Amino acid sequence: MADYALSLSLIALAAGLLGLGWNRIAGRPESRFRAVGRVLLVVVVSILLVGVATYHLSKSRSFQFAGELVQRVETNEKVVALTFDDGPTPGYTEEVLQTLAEHGARATFYLTGRECEENPELLDVVVASGNELGNHTYSHRRLYFVPEKTVAAEVEQTDAIFRAAGYEAPTTFRMPGCKRLLTTPLYLDRTGRTTVVWDLEPDSIAGIADNADAIVEYVGDGVRPGSIVLMHVMYEGRQPTRDALPRILDRLSAQGYRFVTVSELLAMQ
Ligand SMILES: [Zn+2]
Repeated sequence: MADYALSLSLIALAAGLLGLGWNRIAGRPESRFRAVGRVLLVVVVSILLVGVATYHLSKSRSFQFAGELVQRVETNEKVVALTFDDGPTPGYTEEVLQTLAEHGARATFYLTGRECEENPELLDVVVASGNELGNHTYSHRRLYFVPEKTVAAEVEQTDAIFRAAGYEAPTTFRMPGCKRLLTTPLYLDRTGRTTVVWDLEPDSIAGIADNADAIVEYVGDGVRPGSIVLMHVMYEGRQPTRDALPRILDRLSAQGYRFVTVSELLAMQ
């Protein structure tokens, strides 16, 4: 939101200065040629700034035009929700479930409908494990500049796949790449779905992502009561995150944290 406000302020400032025109401010006469050029410049600068502002807004973790958006829950209780995006993926999903079970922890899996269809037995295993499912669209497409019916299809098809596998609980939503503008928030608002993002994402930070020690330290140092942690433990290339997971569970437990699902965390609001 700060990015958006800053960009809008810049637009207003630039448009104001250019609109007034330096010559006019300085009290000098201005040719028609220069006046037309100035208007064109205002238009181009405004379009560029609106583009920059829209880009920042489309991936904001703290602002969305409509619908409930949760980045972290305000609580005094030492609880944290671990969330895993994408998958299920053969090999890695079982490994992650086993790690969670060994630590007596539950997490929330934001799965895609397509990967569930490709790996139905893995979806069954996740459902049977008692962990929570979240909706991460059917095809993992970026849901901005798309009509609302596309958003609805992506979300509802995925929920239908979860239901067919026996998962009955309502699902929260997380959009791929955190991308959305208007139609997705409007759809989510209309259908009463909560958008869940995160306050910690260790495996997308350069200098941390490729080092399990750094990932553990980043999460251990950065966690706060009510934090939501995003990790991509089911990506083939995310071995450092998989190596870090059992150590994160140990470290946060030692720090007095309890692991809850997203819906359990939301219930504490
Ligand atoms: Zn994703």
